[in-house]
Amino acid sequence: MPKDLHRRGLLFVLSSPSGAGKSTLSRRLLEGDSNFRLSISATTRLPRPGEVDGEHYFFVSRERFQQMVANGEMLEHAEVFGNLYGTPRAPVEDWLSRERDILFDVDWQGASQLRDSALSADLVTVFVLPPSIAELHRRLVARGQDSDEVIAGRMAKSQAEYSHWREYDYILINDDLDACQKKIETIVAAERLRRARQIGLGGFVAGLDREYEETFG
Ligand code: ADP
Ligand code: 5GP
Repeated sequence: MPKDLHRRGLLFVLSSPSGAGKSTLSRRLLEGDSNFRLSISATTRLPRPGEVDGEHYFFVSRERFQQMVANGEMLEHAEVFGNLYGTPRAPVEDWLSRERDILFDVDWQGASQLRDSALSADLVTVFVLPPSIAELHRRLVARGQDSDEVIAGRMAKSQAEYSHWREYDYILINDDLDACQKKIETIVAAERLRRARQIGLGGFVAGLDREYEETFG
C-alpha cells in the first residue's frame, strides 16, 4: 500500500464475562501490535493500593469530572457504585487522528455508552464467550486471584454479561487461546481495510485518474 494512504484509527472494544479471557487477549493485542494503546478512563473514586494516576485511571475530583462533562470533554460517562467513570475525549481523538488504534477493555454497559458516543462510527466491538460455563468457572479458579465468594459473584454476573452478545459486531468463542488471538488479528486487519477508514483513497484514485489520462486518455 502506498505510504501516504492515510487511515482512520479503530476504537476496538473487547468485552466478556469475567474469566473468559478478555484481559489475556487484550494484553496479547497490545503487546503484538504497537499501533494499539489502551484507553485510560477518568474516575472520581480513590486509587486502590498499587494503582498509578495516568496508568490505571486518571483520578480526578468530582468537581473536575463534572466540569469535564459540562465542557463536552467526556466521550461517555457513567456512575457506578456512587463513583463517576468516563472516557476523556481528547486523548482518544488525538490518537485516532494519528492513525493509531485504541483498545477499550469494558463491560457491555461501557460498550453501549461508546455506541451512543460521538465516535460510534469508529467502533469495532468484539464479545468473547467461554467455551462452556464449567470452563469459565475453572478459569476463574485457576487464575488464583479471587476468593470463593468473589468467584461466586463473578459467576452470578456472567449470564447477565453474555446475554448482550447480540449487540456486538463479532463473537469469538475463546476455546484455544492462540486461535482466538489470531482471529482478533484478522478482525483488526480487515477493519483497517474498510473503505471509510482509508481516508486517503479519494486522493489515491484521483492520482490513478491523472495517470490514466496521461497514458491512455
Ligand atoms: P478476564 O479478563 O476475562 O476476566 P483472564 O484473561 O484473566 O479473563 O483469563 C482468566 C484465566 O483463564 C487466566 O488464568 C487465563 O490465563 C486463562 N485463560 C484465558 N484464555 C484461556 C484459554 N483459551 N484456555 C485456557 N485458559 C485460558
Ligand atoms: P473499578 O472501580 O472496579 O475499577 O471499576 C468499576 C466499574 O467501572 C467497572 O464495571 C468498569 O467497567 C466501570 N468503568 C471503568 N471505566 C469506565 C469508563 O470509562 N466508562 C464507563 N462507563 N464505565 C467504566
